Amino acid sequence: MNRVEIRRCPWAVSERAIAYHDQEWGVPAHNDRRLFEFLVLEGAQAGLSWETILKKRENYRATFAGFDPARVARFSSRSIEKLLANPGIVRNRLKISSAVENAKAFLKVQEEMGSFDAFIWQFVDGQPKTNARRLLSQVPARTSESDAMSKELIRRGFRFVGSTICYAFMQAVGMVNDHLLDCFRYQQIGEGSHRCNASVSGAIVAAGLRRQQNGGIKPPLRARK
Ligand SMILES: [Zn+2]
Repeated sequence: MNRVEIRRCPWAVSERAIAYHDQEWGVPAHNDRRLFEFLVLEGAQAGLSWETILKKRENYRATFAGFDPARVARFSSRSIEKLLANPGIVRNRLKISSAVENAKAFLKVQEEMGSFDAFIWQFVDGQPKTNARRLLSQVPARTSESDAMSKELIRRGFRFVGSTICYAFMQAVGMVNDHLLDCFRYQQIGEGSHRCNASVSGAIVAAGLRRQQNGGIKPPLRARK
């Protein structure tokens, strides 16, 4: 059998991580619910492996109201206690309560800026930053952009948003393209983000929008001239 060898970032090893890497990681996300999802998941990850979080992701989706920040913001202390008893998620009181507090802060940002998308993408001037790294060891854990994002989120009352968490978030939602140069996704994503209204990334975002019910906040992708 003739199999074309696919090169991908060396961290994507397990089946779950490969699927995540190939389909999601680094794809520019402009959907607020999706951005909230990554804020919750990256915060939950602190000190754990991403694999652990991927395993628990469906449980997070179910217990965190499909990552609807408006609903999560209304979680009572009783619902937080219930979450703490749920082995399907990371049972850390600080992480869970911060997710609820972050939902409240998230709603305030939406109110002020129209969308969280408009706010968060400012930290890369609205365009994905395409890096060109050959080795995993060349990928930083934080940058001046993630420092600025962290500082501003903390100022706005968010928690579990240190600079390294922010940088992981930026990588996940495609604010930076940190696929390694020889990874097959490096080029694909680069092409997708240059053609902002192109069908590939557009279709992915549209699918995300269809899943969310509070759509219509703003067009997911801004055409840049
Ligand atoms: Zn990659």
